[in-house]
Amino acid sequence: MIEGEVCAHKPWEGAVCGRPAVGYVVTRWNGRQTPFCREHLDSCKLTARMFADYEWDVIEEDGTRTAYNTAPPPADPDPVWESTLDKKYRAEVRRTGTGTAELVLIDLTDDNRELVRWAVTLAYGAQFGPDVQDVADWQEKIEGFIDRGER
Ligand SMILES: [Zn+2]
Repeated sequence: MIEGEVCAHKPWEGAVCGRPAVGYVVTRWNGRQTPFCREHLDSCKLTARMFADYEWDVIEEDGTRTAYNTAPPPADPDPVWESTLDKKYRAEVRRTGTGTAELVLIDLTDDNRELVRWAVTLAYGAQFGPDVQDVADWQEKIEGFIDRGER
């Protein structure tokens, strides 16, 4: 156990666990360390494995530190969204992370030349397909680009 530290696990209803802590979970984005007992440290590890976007480090009693989910989620090989305009342009949104993507505009009449590329965000991570408002924004970007004659 870690001297003077008690488990901070708090169930949905009820009191803080309070058993002697054997390790910590560190939430990487804010560096906060929370002490946990054996049982609750192990359940945190399970949780960290289940959710790819939980960026947690677990520090064991002996100081061993394990980082969970450090790698970005694998890129989705299929476009999140695609559209063809006037048989001349092709737009594709390709995922780059959980909530991020790139919008690429290609000229189909010019050997699929890439005309422009924007970094975009995916509402709700586009888990169940792209968000309606996102698609409207992407279409506006593309139409604006073509209208301005930037190609
Ligand atoms: Zn506990």
